[in-house]
Order: sequence, then C-alpha cells, then structure tokens
Amino acid sequence: MSKRSAGLGWALVPMLLLVAVVNGCSSDKEGSDNTKPAKSAPVLATTAIWADVISSATCHAIPVDSLVPAGSDTHDFELSLHASDQVLESRVVFTNGLGLDASFTPVLDMARDAGVEVVDLGAAMDSDMPPIAGDPHFWMEPERVRGVVGVVAAKLKPLELMDSTELDRCAKQYSGDLTDLTTLMAREMEVIPSSRRKLVTEHHNMGYFAQRFDFEVLGAMNDASGSLAETDARHLEKLRVLMTSAGIDTVFVQAGESNDKAESLARDVSVNGEVVPLYIETPPKTVDTSADAGGIISSTYVQMMTVNAERVAAALSK
Ligand SMILES: [Zn+2]
Repeated sequence: MSKRSAGLGWALVPMLLLVAVVNGCSSDKEGSDNTKPAKSAPVLATTAIWADVISSATCHAIPVDSLVPAGSDTHDFELSLHASDQVLESRVVFTNGLGLDASFTPVLDMARDAGVEVVDLGAAMDSDMPPIAGDPHFWMEPERVRGVVGVVAAKLKPLELMDSTELDRCAKQYSGDLTDLTTLMAREMEVIPSSRRKLVTEHHNMGYFAQRFDFEVLGAMNDASGSLAETDARHLEKLRVLMTSAGIDTVFVQAGESNDKAESLARDVSVNGEVVPLYIETPPKTVDTSADAGGIISSTYVQMMTVNAERVAAALSK
C-alpha cells in the first residue's frame, strides 16, 4: 500500500490513502455496500476528492468520510442504504454543489431536517471567480479549491472537533500546498506550445482546468455536462473535423472507465490518436502500480492533480 514510484518528486507529499478515508465504504460494487461502518465520521463529503481536501486541510486530525468512495464516479453513483445512517450520525456534510451531487438531495434534505449542517462548496466559491455553466468540476483547478479551504475551516471551527488554533494553522498550510500545486502544474505544462493547448474530453469536466492553465476546451464528446446519455454521431463527426483542423488527436477520459467511442474518435483523427486517462471524477480506489500508470500512486488530491498535469504535458507536448 505504501509502495511509491521513485523520482516523481512526491517525497514531501504527505501520504494520505483515500482507502483509509473511506473506510467502511470499501465495497467493490457501487451502492451495494450496506454494511454499516463501525463508527461514522463526524465530517462527511459527498466525494472522495473533497474528503481528502478536507482531511488534508485539517492535518488529518478529524475523521472524514465520503459518501462516494474513491474509484467511483459521482455522476452515476447510487448511495448505499447506510448513507442515510452516515449523514444522520455526522455533524456536517460538504457537498460539491453546482448540480454534481444533486441526486443525493433527498438524503441531504433528511440530514438538514435532522439538524446536520450541509455546506455547498460550489456556492461558496469566490464571487470574482464565478462558476462555469454546465461544468461542476471546479476541483480541477487548485486555486478554486484553495478558495473554499477557508469556508471549510470556518464551518468546522464551531464544531470543536480539533483545537481551533491548530485548525487555522492546518488550513493555512494546506492553502500554501495548493498554491504550490498550481505553480508545479503550470511549470509541468510549460512544455506544451500554445498551438497545442487544446482539450477534448468525454464530457465538459476540464473547463476550470483550462481557464487556470491557459487551455482552450475544443469540445466534449458528450456535450451535456454530467449526463451519461449516448453521444450523438453527428456531434462526434463535428468534433472529429474540429480536432483534425486543430491538429489535436488526444481525447482525455476518466482513468479506469473504458471508452470505445473515445478510442474510435482519436483514431479517426489520426493513426497516432490516443485516449489519455486522467483522474477527473475520482482518484483511483487503490494504489495504481500497473505498467500503464508507470507505478504511479494517486491517492491524495495533490498527487492526483500532479499526475494529471504530467499526463496532459506528455500527451500534448509531442
Ligand atoms: Zn464529470
């Protein structure tokens, strides 16, 4: 579990394994784990990414669970039967908002009715950085995440789950880590010439990433964000033409989700066309030591985004 690849510059990144964060929610099958965890965490997040961010921003001093375990996609996730127990036993639930976790509304409403605070992080974003319509994936931009760390700390402080001064220190330290992450990612992707800073994704999930790191979203195979509806053949043909004229033959997809249509699209554009897996919707459920991943571990948000920047740089700088 602690195996890590050498020379990736992550030696200083604290190892938090999301596997531990989501303990009690480790079923292989989505929504089918009805085993009640031994003890529910006082702090919940809807996604494993936010659970890691919150845990990291509090120096891992507070137990944080996620309703959607690492390795599962929030878009098509059905909450397990024990999710309602989890939320009722928690003190606060942090949601992504912007429509991403809208299907959990009944459970979150029940939590609210029972006096559990529900915090919408998307709605708490800085007003000078408004949300991008049709794209709820604002965690794909570390500065946006840094922007809500203060909100997380402010909501946790009255709950007295950890020392208040220590909470401030941890939140400040993690904010610094996120600034460093933004710098590191930008530096990693400097090798990509401006003519190739164009993204094609499965659905609209890299708008915030593009905005921060100076990319253009050329298009998405599925134009309706968050929807898993069938991609339209005519739309895909238009996208193929667009990619061909832009000289872009890379399609970025969520790692671990096979996508035959993305493979066909990339190959239809060019013989060298490729599908590149990124950690967008979720980090991997387990440590990824496969040859394809180059022995890379991506368990924390910081690590996940570091891998994403490396993969985007490698794919588009060719
Ligand atoms: Zn998505």
